[in-house]
Amino acid sequence: MSDSAARPDRVLQNYVAGQWIDIDSIGETIVTNPATGAGLAVHPMSSAAANNAAVEAAAEAFPAWRKTPVPTRAAMMFRYRHLLHEARDELADIIVAENGKSTSEALGELLRAIQYVENAATVPETQKGAVTQNVATSVDIEYIRDPLGVFVVIAPFNFPAMIPLYFSWAVATGNTVVLKPSELCPLTAIRMIELAETAGFPPGVVNMVLGDKSTVENLCDHEAVQGVTFVGSSEIAEIVYRRTTNNSKRCQAQGGANNHLVVTDTAVLDRCIPNIASSLFGCASQRCFAGSNLLVYRSVYDEVVSRLVVEANAMKLGRGTDPDVGMGPVINEAALDKYVAAIDAAEAAGANLILDGRGVTVDGCEGGHWLGPTLIETNPTSAVWTTELFGPVRCIHPIDSLDEAIDIINDSTYGHSAVIYTERGGLARRFSQAVETGQVGINVGTPAPIAFYPVGGRKSSFYGALRGRGVDAVDFYTDKKVIVTTWHDTDGGDQAGVDPAFEGTV
Ligand code: NAD
Repeated sequence: MSDSAARPDRVLQNYVAGQWIDIDSIGETIVTNPATGAGLAVHPMSSAAANNAAVEAAAEAFPAWRKTPVPTRAAMMFRYRHLLHEARDELADIIVAENGKSTSEALGELLRAIQYVENAATVPETQKGAVTQNVATSVDIEYIRDPLGVFVVIAPFNFPAMIPLYFSWAVATGNTVVLKPSELCPLTAIRMIELAETAGFPPGVVNMVLGDKSTVENLCDHEAVQGVTFVGSSEIAEIVYRRTTNNSKRCQAQGGANNHLVVTDTAVLDRCIPNIASSLFGCASQRCFAGSNLLVYRSVYDEVVSRLVVEANAMKLGRGTDPDVGMGPVINEAALDKYVAAIDAAEAAGANLILDGRGVTVDGCEGGHWLGPTLIETNPTSAVWTTELFGPVRCIHPIDSLDEAIDIINDSTYGHSAVIYTERGGLARRFSQAVETGQVGINVGTPAPIAFYPVGGRKSSFYGALRGRGVDAVDFYTDKKVIVTTWHDTDGGDQAGVDPAFEGTV
């Protein structure tokens, strides 16, 4: 069955004000299993009225939720964490079905995702403000972290559990949220929202609407929305950032990536080659931290190429439910067509196809979207090198020095992550300081920050100032309100009233 085949029985609903409700829709798409093409559910596209209803429910729930004691909110996050953990096998099955990654990759995603909730549960500590007494005679100053109201979280398809759970920090800090999952992979988010309902979040604290462009536009424009967290491609990240900030709202928009991996002559190849292959092709290369382009010192180039070919050829292509699978399908037919066209164009331009994944099939999965590991020897200025291809089409090029690698990396319009494989500390140090990226890996192929470290990027990989996760998330979802105080009684022991020297200075 292809993506356009029969309409499944299951019709998805929005979750608004604690209720699952049929969607007042302006159209629909079908959520499909990318390994088979089988339809999983009908995904209605919410109308403006349906989107507004979710924002209004969130706005209504905010006053009570912000006053809910911080330990109570933290306890709710712990309860939610427990439920997600208990349901991890079920959630992994859903991720595999709608996204195509393998069960072990799905469980790995869930481990990281649940750590978001754990980190958000530390809110009694992270939402603390600060006080300084006696900034002038009888004057004290403090800041408190105020929640702001309704936040929107917009997620991409490739991490169906992890990115939707960005909402954890928003609600833990006393805000309410409207989540819009990817229309390609909404089923994991829906199950996680059901678990949030079981955890006992009051109605309206967590809401979810289904849609695509028009839903995002409605949410970014709604006057009750205070801020937007977006994760997706650079093109849409920039659009969403401009739209949201033009509406005078906060926005953090994580964009796409085109990450470079540098293999030097001191790299321990026995250890690094499996790591490189996993970075290039794991999760069918549908990870923002995946290595896209390899820059290899000329002295080890031939050895790296031949060992990578062996490693990549050993990755079994297949359904994520098969325990031996090393690589699943790409997300849909449109993505597959795009990647094949990019390979065709590179070949026509004279690039050397070291590995060519076109035309592969998987028995029993004829309706799936399959592309094997593809490795193209090409120039760093070629289109296939400079464009983000969010699938298993990777490039390689020999280099003569670290400076050459740094120049190529810094010429990129993306600035997500860069990786170096070396045993020379000084070289690694120079690299990590010189590259214009948000993350650096040293002998680590996918240097993704864990929940309690901020994640972001530079250039078109990130629009905004405060990154996602950890303390940056707490900063993003709260406002540091400063309170300057003096008292007119004299019980405090100092002179009463504001020190004129303090008030008169600014
Ligand atoms: P996408 O940009 O196509 O979609 C992301 C979200 O934006 C979806 O919810 C979608 O419905 C919505 N959207 C799509 N078109 C829109 C429009 N014109 N206006 C407003 N909203 C719109 O991304 P994707 O294909 O789902 O995900 C893959 C991309 O996400 C890759 O580029 C990848 O690098 C990036 N990504 C980045 C990170 C990161 O941490 N920086 C993490 C994961 C994925």
